[in-house]
Amino acid sequence: MTRVVLFDIDGTLLASGGVGRRAMEGALMVHFGTIGPTHYRYDGKTDKQIARESMRMAGFADADIDARLPALLDDYLARLEHTVTSGDHGVRMHLGIAALLDALEARSDVLLGLLTGNIAPGASIKLRAAGLAPERFRVGAFGSDHELRPQLPAIAKARAEALMGLAVPGRDVIIIGDTPADVACGRGIGARAVAVATGHYSAADLAAHDPHAVFEDFTDLDASLRAICDA
Ligand SMILES: [Mg+2]
Repeated sequence: MTRVVLFDIDGTLLASGGVGRRAMEGALMVHFGTIGPTHYRYDGKTDKQIARESMRMAGFADADIDARLPALLDDYLARLEHTVTSGDHGVRMHLGIAALLDALEARSDVLLGLLTGNIAPGASIKLRAAGLAPERFRVGAFGSDHELRPQLPAIAKARAEALMGLAVPGRDVIIIGDTPADVACGRGIGARAVAVATGHYSAADLAAHDPHAVFEDFTDLDASLRAICDA
């Protein structure tokens, strides 16, 4: 029996210090001449969704956005890589994550993975900046796989099944994240969500979306493991 445990990145595994937003805004300015509305929230969104929604709000048509998207994302990645390799970038692993990942990896009944709105190369850049080897996450679904987060759990589940050569019931997929979008995205496959208030949403905000469990952070290793593995 195997449980597929999928972590969100920004606000969940790490605090990005805004590196993703700064890289995206820099790229948007070059390719669209505007960063879009400053009140537009990035958390819980996929990278392509961020570009599309913020540029729609700035008045661009989808055809125009689609045409510029590949170059925009290449520019975004170059800026992100430059930021994390030049001086103190501010990306930090959250408290409790190192021990939690070690404990999950040590279990034979857990397949560790990612479910993130980051395009795959951006995910690797951020993880390495936080001191996490991307290879530790053996399966994943990314913002480069689909623009909408609710489509990602089925992709991750299919990849996990292909890797292990066995079917995984939806209820054995655990999605861990810091936003209501993380909590809601797995409903279509019957996945369960464990929410953590280390991003911009409070534990009360997240609890209102009915996750399987909610934590302020993952510093209580035993309680975190129980929620993730013994549900
Ligand atoms: Mg997040």
